[in-house]
Amino acid sequence: MKDLDFDLLARCSRGVRGLKPYEPGKPTTELQRELGIHDVIKLASNENPLGPSPMALAAIRDALAGLAIYPDGQAYELRQAIAEKHDVDPRCITLGDGSDQNLEFLARVFLEADRNAVISQHAFAVYAIVAQAAGAEIRYAAANPPDHPRMPYGHDLEAMLKLIDADTRLVCIANPNNPTGTWLERDNLLAFLQRVPKDVMVVVDEAYFEYVDEPQYPDCARWLQRHPNLVVTRTFSKAYGLAGLRAGYSLSHPAVAELLNRMRQPFNISNLAQAGALAALADTAHLRQTVAMNSAGMRQLQQGYRALGLNWLPSIGNFLTVDFKRPAQPIYAALLREGVIVRPVKNYGLPNHLRITVGLPEQNTRLLRALKKVLAA
Ligand SMILES: *Cc1c(COP(=O)(O)O)cnc(C)c1O
Repeated sequence: MKDLDFDLLARCSRGVRGLKPYEPGKPTTELQRELGIHDVIKLASNENPLGPSPMALAAIRDALAGLAIYPDGQAYELRQAIAEKHDVDPRCITLGDGSDQNLEFLARVFLEADRNAVISQHAFAVYAIVAQAAGAEIRYAAANPPDHPRMPYGHDLEAMLKLIDADTRLVCIANPNNPTGTWLERDNLLAFLQRVPKDVMVVVDEAYFEYVDEPQYPDCARWLQRHPNLVVTRTFSKAYGLAGLRAGYSLSHPAVAELLNRMRQPFNISNLAQAGALAALADTAHLRQTVAMNSAGMRQLQQGYRALGLNWLPSIGNFLTVDFKRPAQPIYAALLREGVIVRPVKNYGLPNHLRITVGLPEQNTRLLRALKKVLAA
């Protein structure tokens, strides 16, 4: 191909120029190609190892018959079902092809050059990517220190509040956060919301909501009535086991949703995604099974880590972030050679940690065995 004979970067928007691409977990097929290992397990992207609901799969198969037809742009049935689940008006809902897209809508609606977004250090990477792409300034609030008694590396809401000024348009909070697993309790989060200026949008990302079994953890959608500047995002990618389908949504004041929906392309949610998500919502038994398996897996892994003398961050999601107290990259590489993919989080400012998804019981056993071998070497 001909060499570029002009300054391409000078031509693109300032936001895109400063963008660093998202680093996803290594795909299983890539490791198979690279090392010729066939029996690979991936505990790197917080996917549901049980997979989706069989009812969702059946609905997706049925929907195949309608692929020649454009999807329902309003996703009438799915929106009704989501509205019912949260007891909100369907006009509060904005559908995304994954909740990442909902985050992108928020950035594109509320951010631009000379505006800023406030996020926490170690927070989910997509917030910074979408804010940067929109050309906005990103203000990072220092997270809790590593020796914090209850929530090391967790969001420090006081520090976030201090960074909000007249140009702040968006505050992003992950509850629980990925990659740390840390969370915010009801009273603290509500007090924060009451202190944020009422015209600054606060996004609470609840991607792991279904997994949480913690009495002080809030369901923020209940606060929408009283806080028109609140936006809650949810996804079908995690506990619902549909990461490959791409479906998520945000809940907000209808006037906010109207703006978000202006950004949304009319057919962003495919026929298959609408059908699969709708059926997944109805299969509460599969969700219960998922959550029970995750809780048991958490116990299994914590027991195993303890036996190996390892420490981990407090987590209420479907993953644990282990602190190896030394650079984790060699451990990550050695685990790959054992056919186990986990997630380095150096790009999140956590070079000594690895984020490891809870797997099926036999996958957890295999991970623990591989870790034991790798740490002994
Ligand atoms: C996985 C994840 C998401 C989004 O995933 P989608 O597949 O785009 O819905 C959002 N937020 C956090 C914190 C996540 O871990």
